[in-house]
Amino acid sequence: MNSPQQSRICIPICESTVAALESAIAGAVKVSDLIEVRLDCLQKNELETGASRITEVLKRTDCESILTLRPAEQGGQGQLDDETRQAFWSDAIFSESLFDVELELAEHFNSAGSPHTLPIDWSRTICSQHDFAGVPRNLDQIYERMISTPARILKFAVMAQDATDCLPVFHLLARARSEGREMIAIAMGSAGIATRILGPSRGSFLTYGSSENDAGTAPGQVSVRDLREVYRLEQIDHQTQVFGVIGLPISHSLSPCVHNAAFAALGKNAVFLPLEVHDVKAFLKRMVIPRTRELDWNLRGLSVTAPHKFTVMEQLDWVEPAAQEIGAVNTIVIKDDALHGFNTDASGFITPLVQKFGDLTGVRCAVIGAGGAAKAVVWALKQAGAQVTICARELARGQLLAEHFGVAGIKLEDARFNEFDVVINTTPLGTAGKFENETAVTGEGLRGARLAYDLVYNPNETRFLREAREAGCETLGGLPMFVAQATEQFRLWTGDAAPADVMYEAAQQGLLRSQI
Ligand code: NAP
Repeated sequence: MNSPQQSRICIPICESTVAALESAIAGAVKVSDLIEVRLDCLQKNELETGASRITEVLKRTDCESILTLRPAEQGGQGQLDDETRQAFWSDAIFSESLFDVELELAEHFNSAGSPHTLPIDWSRTICSQHDFAGVPRNLDQIYERMISTPARILKFAVMAQDATDCLPVFHLLARARSEGREMIAIAMGSAGIATRILGPSRGSFLTYGSSENDAGTAPGQVSVRDLREVYRLEQIDHQTQVFGVIGLPISHSLSPCVHNAAFAALGKNAVFLPLEVHDVKAFLKRMVIPRTRELDWNLRGLSVTAPHKFTVMEQLDWVEPAAQEIGAVNTIVIKDDALHGFNTDASGFITPLVQKFGDLTGVRCAVIGAGGAAKAVVWALKQAGAQVTICARELARGQLLAEHFGVAGIKLEDARFNEFDVVINTTPLGTAGKFENETAVTGEGLRGARLAYDLVYNPNETRFLREAREAGCETLGGLPMFVAQATEQFRLWTGDAAPADVMYEAAQQGLLRSQI
């Protein structure tokens, strides 16, 4: 591959034998611009005897390579002591690669009177520092130490615990750029994904990606396929409008697949990122609100998911009346200097239901669960004229919601679902993972209801829906709702009609990939 300089992807390869390394290199060079050969992953005897074979393999590929031999405290796999590693670099016969040498070792090689002199060209040396615990406070000091070695490229990899930990990484990239230094800067972890996707457009020498179906060599690494096809890395520049979804956890979210596919289909210079946020107030202040944010990143809008749909509201400049009544915001539009909040879950929920069922006036609807999603569901059903009963495992919780919306509330175990036309599951039961084989109501309990609607969309057919189908009910899964709420978000952010078919297809593909 030969991508433009500003979007180069490097696949790190970590194998225990030279034979496995050789085969991984053959696969990686087909899709990446560079490869990083993690020599520290090799068994000690393989490293000792295999160096010349690796040199041959690297010479045969026309892909630029980086060689790394990390100590354990910098994320290395092997247990080589400092002496052995220093001796390895001194004897190394690799002549055409870039070399990733940790800061301490680079300082050692650079120090006057060092018994070892780096046998390779400093102009091909990357001086690196990794922190797997967090973001060091003294990043600028580390930067100063790095630039006092002759290494050409500087590399920082820190661990993000929250999306705001991306800020120091972007600041480092800005500093390096203004000082004419080449730099690789990454925030690892699922909270750091923004740096992996936006980094190259902010001057990062490369970004790392994993091979397809590979967990990668560092937490939060995105696959090369997703970097190119979902995030369209090559097209991201400073003008690119940025959108994202904030939540906790967020790595499972289908929103990036769906919205990035829509941007691509309409040829928009925009990208949509997953943003893992713990402290929503701090995130909005430091990264979103135009008056206070510490990053100029052309951010235009956010999708908001659990657990922030309620807490985000008090930070906004304006909230649409429907979202106020529902008590939840799932969409933020950044307009001029202000943040406007909307709720698209309600319309997203009701649109496919009306399409499938028809007019809901007077229709008897049972809503199972009394959590965040139930609020938008109950509000939308009331607006549509339905007769609503909330069925909650905790009567008090159900009644609180029922009173707020002026509907009925009963205990889940007392519900007789055959007396309803539509039964809606708003609990997470049935979701892939630990709840997959669970359902709040069995097929027998549903016999006689006309339609079962599950908000859960992964898997496509939950146990609730399967048993409902077998009991003779019509069924509706959560994916049409997910896509409908996303199309409305897209319209709010861009002013354009969303390509719903493209988004539905992308959601299905995203689900399939998450099940591999
Ligand atoms: P939430 O705020 O945590 O609410 C979950 C509700 O389910 C709570 O009322 C909880 O009861 C109830 N519940 C949990 N386990 C239960 C059990 N074993 N038996 C009976 N009730 C149980 O979650 P949420 O944000 O409302 O989301 C709920 C589900 O909807 C999630 O799976 C989410 O993915 C899905 N969703 C889908 C869409 C879509 O677009 N398709 C949109 C939004 C949400 P307690 O109140 O007693 O804890």
